[in-house]
Amino acid sequence: MKIIVLPGDGIGPETMQATVQVLEAASSRFDLGLVFEHDVAGHESLRRHGATVTPALLDKVKAADGLMLGPMATYDFKDEAKGEINPSKFFRKELDLFANIRPARTWSGLPQKVGEFDLVVVRENTEGFYADRNIESGSSEMLVTRDVVVSLRRITRACCERIARSAFQLAATRKRHVSIVHKANVLKIGDGMFIDECRRVAQEFPDVQVDDFIVDAMMAHVVRAPRRFDVIVTTNMFGDILSDLTAELSGSLGLGGSLNAGSAHAMGQAAHGSAPDIAGQDIANPFSLILSAAQLLGWHGQRRGLPAFNAAALAIEQAAADAIADGEATRDVGGRLGTAATGRAFAQRLARHGEPVAA
Ligand code: NAD
Repeated sequence: MKIIVLPGDGIGPETMQATVQVLEAASSRFDLGLVFEHDVAGHESLRRHGATVTPALLDKVKAADGLMLGPMATYDFKDEAKGEINPSKFFRKELDLFANIRPARTWSGLPQKVGEFDLVVVRENTEGFYADRNIESGSSEMLVTRDVVVSLRRITRACCERIARSAFQLAATRKRHVSIVHKANVLKIGDGMFIDECRRVAQEFPDVQVDDFIVDAMMAHVVRAPRRFDVIVTTNMFGDILSDLTAELSGSLGLGGSLNAGSAHAMGQAAHGSAPDIAGQDIANPFSLILSAAQLLGWHGQRRGLPAFNAAALAIEQAAADAIADGEATRDVGGRLGTAATGRAFAQRLARHGEPVAA
């Protein structure tokens, strides 16, 4: 499996270094034959190539089996004409990575803020309220007069249907429960269509229980009793917001894994941003990116029918749980190590995976 590695901005390089170390350990332990090709995106690419992402990089990514994208300083990238393209939207759009899969679960050893839970937010990733990707050319956010802005949201039946199918397929492998999150009381036509498509796809999965929640009430439900949820399917912006909440409820935003998947390509990417407030201090939690890498391995294994990749993905998740319980993690999750030491300890733990534990 050839993986393109783009470290990104802010805490990206340090968390990606730890992640690659873990992937190398997984490759040796499970005989995966991972091959890494390192390149740049974001500020480093802007400096070197005059653009945050380039067509040549896209060609490389298309020819590879997977992409690991570090967090990007997207807020800094304001003018596409100056090469300041948002790399996340670029890859999501160009590779049609329509499903953003964001698991969140509690970990033993961490104080539980709202009780135990294990859920996945399945977020539509290619349209919705995202002005930089929901129309073919230009931006769907317009300054009509100096004091008036119009921002458009795009919802299409085809995109609703495919994200719904991803959610139900996932739920069929889990606790068989899908919760549809929407704002159809106000966005009656767009979110009405979203609900209709989810309910239509639900008919193909008679074993999967379905309910739906208005997004504002959902924030209260998920804080009050997250254990009642299994798979949550929603539109782009709602999913972005909700999944940061569920990651933080699980212990830290630094624990939020995230896979962007399409029918031919996939990109592992931490749920959090470039965290400039802690960049370069060796305190950033690399688990979000490491867990995203595990999701990428699992995606590849499932797609190609390679059980070793699925086993490696599960082993990484188990190693994360054990590392947190043993304090071999960063301070935000009660650990005692820096970012680099957390990566090293994780890789060593993975190298020992499956060996008998000393009494
Ligand atoms: P952020 O997610 O970078 O940080 C929010 C808070 O969480 C900060 O206090 C930060 O220190 C903390 N945090 C984030 N990741 C952490 C980690 N791994 N370990 C420990 N603490 C962590 O959000 P922000 O500060 O609003 O955004 C910073 C930049 O990132 C902006 O340019 C924004 O546009 C961009 N962003 C990018 C992505 C992406 O690349 N997918 C996602 C969100 C934000």
